[in-house]
Amino acid sequence: MKSFREVFIIHTQERRKMINITDRLSTAVKKSGIKEGLLLCNPLHITSSVFINDDESGLHQDFENWLEKLAPEKPYSMYHHNGYEDNADAHLKRTIMGREVVIAITDGKLDLGTWEQVFYGEFDGKRDKRVLIKIIGE
Ligand code: ZN
Repeated sequence: MKSFREVFIIHTQERRKMINITDRLSTAVKKSGIKEGLLLCNPLHITSSVFINDDESGLHQDFENWLEKLAPEKPYSMYHHNGYEDNADAHLKRTIMGREVVIAITDGKLDLGTWEQVFYGEFDGKRDKRVLIKIIGE
């Protein structure tokens, strides 16, 4: 069995942002040379997510509105976590949106559905965040 590991950095100017990372993952699959296997991708942080959904800006705005209803950023004082930090909402948003994705690799390609795209969801940005790609297979 072969294995491949890569870590890349995402640094957003905004506190919250959704970034399509599908091409980055496809490039990693090519680099790995693995034709049949599994790809795992997750942020190495607890205030951002990797998830699969539609690349449609209206839907991304709907996610933003929905997450702000469930775990509003402000007032910061409403959260127990915000003693020394202001990112309690980001921890909660990350939990709802998920930690990682696992994608089958078939015939050297990501085996995704027609409308499936992979996103990095930042909920406490403006700093470097590391994202792990791990691929195993043959
Ligand atoms: Zn925190």
